[in-house]
Amino acid sequence: MRFVDEFRDAELGQVVAGEILATIDPGRHYKVMEVCGGHTHSIYKYGIDDLLPANVELVHGPGCPVCVIPMGRVDDGIAVARNEEVIFTCFGDMLRVPGSEFTLLEAKAQGADVRMVYSPLDALRIARENPDRQVVFFAIGFETTAPSTALTLKRAKAEGVTNFSCICNHVTIVPPLRALLESPDLRLDGFVGPGHVCTVVGARPFEFIPADYGRPVVISGFEPLDILQSILMILRQLRDGRAEVENQYKRVVPQEGNLRALEVMAEVFQLRPHFEWRGLGFISQSALRLSDAYRAFDAEERYSVPGVRIADPKACQCGEVLKGVIKPWECKVFGTACTPEHAIGTCMVSPEGACAAYYNYGRLARTREVV
Ligand code: SF4
Repeated sequence: MRFVDEFRDAELGQVVAGEILATIDPGRHYKVMEVCGGHTHSIYKYGIDDLLPANVELVHGPGCPVCVIPMGRVDDGIAVARNEEVIFTCFGDMLRVPGSEFTLLEAKAQGADVRMVYSPLDALRIARENPDRQVVFFAIGFETTAPSTALTLKRAKAEGVTNFSCICNHVTIVPPLRALLESPDLRLDGFVGPGHVCTVVGARPFEFIPADYGRPVVISGFEPLDILQSILMILRQLRDGRAEVENQYKRVVPQEGNLRALEVMAEVFQLRPHFEWRGLGFISQSALRLSDAYRAFDAEERYSVPGVRIADPKACQCGEVLKGVIKPWECKVFGTACTPEHAIGTCMVSPEGACAAYYNYGRLARTREVV
């Protein structure tokens, strides 16, 4: 199939792997972070890291939207879902994210009316079909999905729908990247930039990484050859002593992003002063809430929520995984107490989570290093 097969050509993959080998300094260790969970998933699905020299290490970043939702926010959602008048809607993987006591799926089993939706528009449709109930949408995601929530709220407002509201957990990618770059325990040589987010925000927001921190960024597509080529482009920048934002995903990502989507987001959302990220703590100006013009659709204004910060379980090392400090198999409960069926942490819930990617594709131990 055009646009798929040509990006999964194994022979071309070997050629790019050969170019990577010819580009690196064998005496140097390279640490490259793939920011987006979609990249992590592709890397292990297609065995991309097996094509890389042993001194080119990939570490996983904080770009999985389900993984970064803290327990306290899940508890807030469950508190709202338990209102008898409420139909609580969310994406499927959110249902299994652990709160301090339950998941939303367990709350559903106990009687809460929790329903899985594929888009915020599904939630709005449920609101139209149930005028006597209140429908709440638990919105999550980076800038990639925030425009669809914004457009749904615009439509709800235009139609005069009054029984629809939203718990907004949309987050933005730049503040956690800056926090990671400031972190003394993580030395990174470059970034595979988040292609999906960049379709909305463009390349410009990432210019601070080469400008302030001297690290290359290559915005990348999600097919195996996209990712291999992006790694090669990063390594070439390092070889040449350059640090720039390059766009490997030009077939999808415009330099300026999607101006219409950014305009709608600016109308519907405003920055929160701070927001808690699972495992990363509070990061200022890293998340969105509804703007004053859309306050009537803010479920956090309509319902009382605990709003309490809950510490992650002691055994959970999602924070270290999300910062790329440890590999999933280094967490003590990986693959034993924590599996996709019974997840302790969020990184095992979403298919984009690093722990789920490692588990699902059989990366259960230090395989590369041992071979
Ligand atoms: S194995 Fe489970 S608890 Fe450990 S880091 Fe991964 S998701 Fe978190």
